[in-house]
Amino acid sequence: MSRTAATLLILALAACFGAGLAHQRTGPSFQQGSRQQRQAYEPRVQPQIDQEEVDPLEPVRAPVDLGERAFEKLSTIVGFGPRHTAATPTPGWSRQLDYIENELVAAGLQPERDTWTDRRELLTFSNVRAVVPGRSKERIVLACHHDTKCTQGHADPKNNFHFVGANDGGSAVALLLALAPLLATNPREATIELLFLDGEESLDWRWNDGSRAMFGSKRYVQRHRETPPEKQESPLRALVLLDMVARTDLHIQEELYSDTGLRQIAFAAAVATGRKSSFFKAAESASDDHVPFLEAGIPAIDLIDLKGNPHWHEPTDTIENCSAASMQAVADVVLTMLPAVERAYLKAKR
Ligand SMILES: [Zn+2]
Repeated sequence: MSRTAATLLILALAACFGAGLAHQRTGPSFQQGSRQQRQAYEPRVQPQIDQEEVDPLEPVRAPVDLGERAFEKLSTIVGFGPRHTAATPTPGWSRQLDYIENELVAAGLQPERDTWTDRRELLTFSNVRAVVPGRSKERIVLACHHDTKCTQGHADPKNNFHFVGANDGGSAVALLLALAPLLATNPREATIELLFLDGEESLDWRWNDGSRAMFGSKRYVQRHRETPPEKQESPLRALVLLDMVARTDLHIQEELYSDTGLRQIAFAAAVATGRKSSFFKAAESASDDHVPFLEAGIPAIDLIDLKGNPHWHEPTDTIENCSAASMQAVADVVLTMLPAVERAYLKAKR
C-alpha cells in the first residue's frame, strides 16, 4: 500500500467515523481533525411527521400590524442593494449591519457584533446578536442570515445579474427586527437570542458540500463549542431558523434535516393559528444555517420556503413578490411555537 493510499484509507475511516457520530447527533463533526480539512455537512434526513398526530397548541397572535412593520423594514433593507462580502464588501452589507444594530438598540436591546476574517477565503464576515434575558437562563435562538447571494463574477454569465435578495436574505432579517421590540418588552421563560448570521450563501454558485457556505453559523457554533460549559452564559436548548419567509405565495416546507419534535411543534402552531395551508404541504431537506447546530447536537428547525420557489436566486426575488401577510403568518407561527418549545426543550422544569 502506498503512503498516499494509506493516508486515503485513514481519511476515509475518519470520514466514516465522523459521519457515524454526526448521525447520533453527538459528533464533533467539523471541529474534528485539521481546521484546514474541508468538512462536508450532511445531517440525517428524518422521516416526515404525522400531521394527524400533533398536539393542539394555544394560538399566540402577533400584533395585527407586525407584518406591515416587517414589510417596511424589508423595503429599507432591499434599498441597501446587494449585501455580501464575497470578493469585496458591498456598501449594502455594512449599511445593513448598522441598520440591524440600530433597530435592536431602538428595541431596547444591546447588540453585539462579531467580525472575523475567514483564513482560507480571506473574506470578512460579521454576525450580530442580541439577548433578551428570560426567567430561565436556558436559551432559545431565533436566527436568520443577513447576507445575499453574490451574483457577480461567476463563470456562467447567466449567474451574473442584479440581485437584491428581498425574500432570500432580507425577509427573515426584517421579520426578526419587527419581532424584536415585542420580545424585548415581554420577557418569557426562556432567554431569547436574536441572531443575524453572515455568509450563509455559497461562494460557489452551486452549494456543493457547503464547505464554502454557512460561514457565520459555523463560526457561531465553533465558538459555542470551544467555550467550556461552566463559562457559557446560558445553555443553548434550541434553534429556530427563518429563511425566505415573505413570498406572496408562501409555502414553508417541512425541512427534513430539522429536529422532529420542533417540526411537530411548528406544524401544530400553523394549525392553531389557521396558517396550515402555508405549511408543510411539501417536504424536502435543505442545507442551511441550522446544519452546523444540528451537527453540534443542538435541536434546530429551518422554516424555509425553498422547494418550488420560482424566485430563488433569480432576479425576480424582489419586494414585489413579497407580502406583509406572509410575514404576519410566520410571526404567528413562531410566537405560538415558543411556549411549546420552552415546555419541551428547557430542562429545568417549573
Ligand atoms: Zn440563498
